[in-house]
Order: sequence, then C-alpha cells, then structure tokens
Amino acid sequence: MIISQYPARLSSKIMLSTNTVQLGFTLEGEEKFEFTAGQFIQLIFEKDGETFKRSYSIANAPADFAQTGELEIALSFVDNGVASELFKSEDVGFKLKIAGPFGALTLPKDIPGQLILAGTGTGLAPYRSMIPELKKLVGDGTRVTVLMGFRQRDEGIYIDDFKQLANVDYRICLTQEESVKDHENEFEGRVQMQFDDLNLNSDSDIIYLCGNPGMIDDSVSLLRNEGFSPRQIKREKYNFSGH
Ligand SMILES: Cc1cc2nc3c(=O)[nH]c(=O)nc-3n(C[C@H](O)[C@H](O)[C@H](O)COP(=O)(O)OP(=O)(O)OC[C@H]3O[C@@H](n4cnc5c(N)ncnc54)[C@H](O)[C@@H]3O)c2cc1C
Repeated sequence: MIISQYPARLSSKIMLSTNTVQLGFTLEGEEKFEFTAGQFIQLIFEKDGETFKRSYSIANAPADFAQTGELEIALSFVDNGVASELFKSEDVGFKLKIAGPFGALTLPKDIPGQLILAGTGTGLAPYRSMIPELKKLVGDGTRVTVLMGFRQRDEGIYIDDFKQLANVDYRICLTQEESVKDHENEFEGRVQMQFDDLNLNSDSDIIYLCGNPGMIDDSVSLLRNEGFSPRQIKREKYNFSGH
C-alpha cells in the first residue's frame, strides 16, 4: 500500500494543560488530505540527522480542518521523549511531513444502544474530532457518555468542548486528586470504574476506548466479563515503542 506523505509546517502551538500542548499543522503540498473523525496521523521529522515517526490522533473535526486548513493534535510531554523535547522547543514554522490518515476508531452511522467514549489524557482527542457527529447522534436520540480520565485536575484537556454539548453526559475521572467530590462532574478513580454506574446493555451498547494501554486492557476484560462482544468494543492503544 502506498501511503501519501504531505509536506507540512507547524502553524500553531497552544498549551492545553500543564503537560499537554495542542499543535496545529498546515499542509503545504498540492495533494488533498481527507480523514474521518477518530483517525490518527504520523508526524515524520528529522532530529540530529535521524528520521523519526510518531503517531497522534487528529483532535479537530474534518469540517473544521476543511475551513481552517489546520490539522490539530494534542501532544502530552514525556520526559526525554524525542517528539516531546522537539515540540517543546520548536516554534511555528518548523517543517516536517505528515502521513495518513490511519486507524478505524470511527463512528458508525447508527448506534443501537448507548455510546460510551472513554479516554485517558490525549486519548480524548479523537472524541473531540467527533463532536459534529456526536451532536447528530444525540439529536437522533442516542445517549452519549464521555469518560475523561486524568491523573490530576490540572492535566485536564478539552473539558469545555464536551461541557458545552447539550445532552451529553461527561465525567471527569481523576486518579490522583483530593477533594474530587467538591467539583462539578468529577469522580474519583479510573474511567472504567464508571461502567457499573451507566446501566450498560451488552446487547446493544457500543464502547470506545482510547489512550493508555493499561486502561484499555482492563476495560476490555471488565466488558468481556459483562458479555460484550469484541465488535461492540472499539479501541486505539497509544503504545510508545516500535512505531
Ligand atoms: C495510534 C497511536 C496514536 C497516538 N496518539 C497520541 C496522541 O494523540 N497524543 C499523544 O501525546 N501521544 C499519542 N501517541 C503516543 C505518541 O505516538 C508517542 O509515543 C509519544 O508522544 C511519545 O513520543 P516521544 O518521541 O516524545 O517519546 P519517545 O522518544 O518515543 O520515548 C522516550 C521514552 O519515554 C517512554 N515513554 C514514552 N511515552 C511514555 C508515557 N506516556 N509514559 C511513560 N513513558 C513513556 C518510552 O518508552 C521511552 O523510554 C499515540 C500512539 C499511537 C500508537
């Protein structure tokens, strides 16, 4: 399979939280780039004469990209990470290549039961890209819940994007925060601890899982024990090596 690579330029850089930056990239080639909400891209960049590739979920909606010409991603810094260090220091104008789109964490047209979107950290980015589709699903009567997992409150990203959606239940699940109960929509513990409280129906509900591989493995085993079949669980693991 031939995968297109698009010349691109870093065109915006916004801190979303203490450890996460949103990067915007403008594609500079002639070739048209199209994607479906939920997919990811690969950034291909040079550092010290070596070429690196790193994968990132697209954080804005296809319609937003069509309007602004900018592809957004959310990058969570890891200590001494190649991409993390590069994008901490590089500024707008930095040139690289983008490959993609990849992945199948995309929404079907119809959902027979309720839709649960669970993500940890930047694993919420693909759900932000889905917002126009979520509005439509909610308008058609689908119950949608977004489970947002962070360690601490100040690591939260994209909360306002979901807060402003009418009739979408969003729950902020914090694993390392005290006084959680005093804050709106906050819950103590991991995202998968919410499953028991959602009246899940293993015949009809669809669950999306994105981000931390540990959360995904744990959630899959909980859901499989509840009778969910593999086709009702869609997942994208943010593995950190070998890609
Ligand atoms: C399909 C897919 C989609 C992804 N989407 C996103 C996304 O939207 N946003 C995002 O921020 N990341 C995402 N990732 C992860 C991303 O591709 C990089 O792996 C991540 O940004 C680290 O890259 P780096 O070059 O900074 O670190 P590297 O140079 O790859 O790693 C440096 C060291 O840190 C370790 N390490 C890396 N990450 C972590 C971590 N989180 N916790 C602990 N140790 C770590 C590595 O094992 C290594 O020892 C995705 C991964 C996949 C496979």
